[in-house]
Amino acid sequence: MTDGMNARELFQSHSSLTYDDIIILPGYIDFGAQDVQLQTKITREIELAAPLCSSPMDTVTETEMAVNLALLGGIGFIHYNNTIEQQSRMVRRVKRFENGFITEPVVLSPAHSIHDVDEIRSKNGFSGIPITEDGTLNTKLVGIVTNRDVDFEQDRSTLLRDVMTTSLITAPKGVTLRDANQMLRESKRGKLPIIDENGHLAALVSRTDIMKNREFPDASKSVDKQLMVGAALSTRPEDRERLEALVEAGVDVIVIDSAQGHSVYQVEMLRYIKETYPDLQVIAGNVVTQNQCAALIQAGADGIRVGMGPGSICTTQETMAVGRGQAAAVYHCSQHCREQGVPVIADGGVRDIGHIVKALSMGASAVMMGLMFSGSSETPGEYFYQNGVRLKRYRGMASIEAMDAGGGKRYFAEDEPVRVAQGVSGMVMDKGSIRNLVPYLCQGLKHAFQDIGVKNLETLHTILNSGDLCFETRTQSAQQEGGVHDMYSYEKPALGTRERVE
Ligand code: GDP
Ligand code: GDP
Ligand code: 5GP
Repeated sequence: MTDGMNARELFQSHSSLTYDDIIILPGYIDFGAQDVQLQTKITREIELAAPLCSSPMDTVTETEMAVNLALLGGIGFIHYNNTIEQQSRMVRRVKRFENGFITEPVVLSPAHSIHDVDEIRSKNGFSGIPITEDGTLNTKLVGIVTNRDVDFEQDRSTLLRDVMTTSLITAPKGVTLRDANQMLRESKRGKLPIIDENGHLAALVSRTDIMKNREFPDASKSVDKQLMVGAALSTRPEDRERLEALVEAGVDVIVIDSAQGHSVYQVEMLRYIKETYPDLQVIAGNVVTQNQCAALIQAGADGIRVGMGPGSICTTQETMAVGRGQAAAVYHCSQHCREQGVPVIADGGVRDIGHIVKALSMGASAVMMGLMFSGSSETPGEYFYQNGVRLKRYRGMASIEAMDAGGGKRYFAEDEPVRVAQGVSGMVMDKGSIRNLVPYLCQGLKHAFQDIGVKNLETLHTILNSGDLCFETRTQSAQQEGGVHDMYSYEKPALGTRERVE
C-alpha cells in the first residue's frame, strides 16, 4: 500500500519547501530507542558519533564550545572574526585538551622556579611538568613537578630542584597506549613519563585523560586521541597564511565560509588547499543547488555545507532575493552529493529536534547550528539581564556589528564603501550548558529514528532513496494543529533548560 509521497514526488513541484512545510510518516518499530546509533560522516573521512556541528560564528564557537561539543560527539568550527594568532591558539587549545600520548609536553629545568610552573598553569591549565636537565626535550629526564609538590609552598621563587619528585615510574618508548594506561592505573600516579633509550623524555601520559575518555565515550577524536576541531577560512588569498597557521596548530577540518559558495574565489581556494595539504579535509559552501555542489566537489570538496538564507539571524533571502527553502536545498544537494560520496551538512534554520530529523531525512549527514547553541554557557560573551531575564548576545556574521569586527569576509563586503547587512544582531535566552543540551538532542533524535523505523542514518538514507520513506506537505492549519493549541496557558522552556532524562 502506498500512502503519502516519496521524496522525489514531494520535491518535483519545485516549491521552495522548508522544514516546517513537511511531515514524515511513521514506520514500523521493532527495536528500542537505545538501539539507535547516530554515527555519521561530515566529510569523506571524518566520522562523528553525533550529527551535530556548531557554526563558525563569533557568538557561538571558540575554544569552550569546540572542546565540549567534541567531548559529546559533535564538532565545533572556530570562527575567523579574529587574528590568525587568536584563531590558531583556540585550535591548539582544543587539540591540547585531551591526549593519548602527549608528544611534546611542556618541560622545565631544575633551575626554574615554582613561579614558572604558576605561569604555565595560568596559560595552559595544567601544572604536571616533567623536569629535564636543561629544560628541553633533548636532555635526560630528572624529575617531575606536580600540584602536590608546589601547592603549599609559600615562597614561589623556590627552585624546582628543591621540590621536584625524583623517584619516577616511567615506561619505555614503544609502549602501547593501552599498556601505558594500565601502568598509570597501577602506579596510582597522575603522570607517566615515556622515555627513550637515552633517558630522554619522549612523551607523557596523563591520568586525567583516561578519566576524560571514560566520561566521554562518544568524544570526536583523531587517531592520536586528541579532540577534533574545525576552523573557518574566508576565500581571500591572504587567508592562505591563516590556513598555514591552522594546519600548524593541528586543525582537523577546514570550512570555507562563504554565503554564496559557487565563486571563482572559492574554487581557487579549494584547489589551493587540496594541492598544498592533500590530506586535510575541507568542507565547501554554502550552496543550495546541484550545479553548485558539482563545481565544488570537482574542485576537491570533502563535504558540502548547504543553506542560503534559512539562518535565524539571516536576512539574505529578503535582501538579496537569492537562496532556497532549506528542505528543498538539502534534498536536491544531497541527491547529487550522495552520488559523489560526499556528505552534506545542513546549515541554518534548526530550531528544534524535529528540524534536525527532517534535515537528516532529506539526505543530510549532519546539521550545523548557531541558534541552537547560542546563549549556552560554552559560547563567547557575557550574560546580562534585561527585565529579569538572563541573556547573551547572538549575531549574524553579516550583521553590521559583526562586519565591523571583520565578518564581512564571508560576504565579499569587507572593503566596500556601503555595506548591505545580510544579518541581524540580537539577544537570546540563557540555555545553560551544552553538556545537558546535546545529550537531550541525541536522545530526541534516537526516539525520532525509532518512530521512523530506522536504527541508523545509513538506513534512513537508504529508505529515502528507495522511496520507502514517505512524507506529506503540511497546510497552515496542519502546522497549527501540530503545535500546542487551545491551552489557557502553558510553559515551554527553552530547549537547553528542559530537564535531562537519563
Ligand atoms: P579501543 O578502546 O580498544 O577500541 O581502542 P582505542 O584505540 O580507542 O583505544 C586504545 C586504548 O587507549 C584504550 O585502552 C583506550 O581506553 C585508551 N584511550 C582512548 N582514548 C584515550 C585518551 O584520550 N587518553 C588516554 N590516555 N587513553 C585513551
Ligand atoms: P595537571 O595535573 O595540572 O598537569 O593537569 P591535569 O592532568 O588535570 O590535566 C592536564 C590535561 O592537559 C590533560 O588532558 C593533558 O592531556 C593536557 N595536556 C596537553 N598538553 C600537556 C602538557 O604539555 N603537559 C601536561 N601536563 N598536560 C598537557
Ligand atoms: P541558525 O542556526 O542561527 O539558524 O543559522 C546559523 C547559520 O546562519 C550559520 O551557520 C551561517 O551559515 C548562517 N549565518 C551566520 N551569520 C549570518 C548572517 O549574518 N547572514 C546570513 N545570511 N547567514 C548567516
